[in-house]
Amino acid sequence: MIHLQNVEKVYRTDTIETLALSNINLHIAKGEFLSIMGPSGCGKSTLLNIIGLLDAATKGQVLIDNQDTTHLSDKAMAQFRNKKIGFIFQSYHLINDLAVQDNVELPLLYRSSSAKERRQRSAEALQKVGLSNRMKHFPKQLSGGQKQRVAIARAIVGQPEIILADEPTGNLDSAMGDEIMNILLHLNSTEGTTIIMVTHDEYMAKKTHRLVRLFDGSQVQ
Ligand code: ADP
Ligand code: ADP
Repeated sequence: MIHLQNVEKVYRTDTIETLALSNINLHIAKGEFLSIMGPSGCGKSTLLNIIGLLDAATKGQVLIDNQDTTHLSDKAMAQFRNKKIGFIFQSYHLINDLAVQDNVELPLLYRSSSAKERRQRSAEALQKVGLSNRMKHFPKQLSGGQKQRVAIARAIVGQPEIILADEPTGNLDSAMGDEIMNILLHLNSTEGTTIIMVTHDEYMAKKTHRLVRLFDGSQVQ
């Protein structure tokens, strides 16, 4: 479902060129749960941003669902991203002055869904992560693990085929990390969502189907 062919990423400014990714070839099947590991600065976030159509490769091809995304306009790319991809970050990226349920509804605002539909779908997503009892709370009233569950609900509310997770357990203690990992594993096995997760944690990576290691912008495994 996701094919990267000879992907290269160079960050350029007037004075500096940084080769962040070089000759990446990666084929990710529908329903696969893949983890990406490697030292800080090796290109993990860059790779996730390229797969998530948040940033463009400087060379090579990125195919998602057999569609070549390399030459899409910014608008088409945003639509594609909104429809197919959900994002989860290490630091949750919730909006503090919106209640939990309103945070979860954010991705639906770009779609033509009614307020009633949004209410229903956000409630369902929160139920899937076990937070039906926190819908009216605000992020600061939640634990780290609960905040990440809200972020997962926000990522899945639009029923994306792909979830990209950048160190989803990085800020959590091991019990909460396990809880988040179990939700992702369950989502992957019951709904067939393709998940790509960056992690520093070998223990979490071992629970996924496949591990890709990066070093200095190249695939080493
Ligand atoms: P990781 O996620 O593995 O820590 P990144 O993908 O963030 O690595 O970064 C890969 C390399 O690209 C690093 O050497 C980093 O300094 C460089 N880099 C990342 N973003 C930019 C940017 N916007 N401009 C220039 N260089 C960047
Ligand atoms: P955010 O979730 O706020 O975007 P990042 O994931 O970008 O934060 O992390 C910031 C920096 O810290 C990145 O360069 C990242 O590679 C590094 N980093 C994050 N977690 C770890 C970790 N567990 N061990 C080592 N470096 C880490």
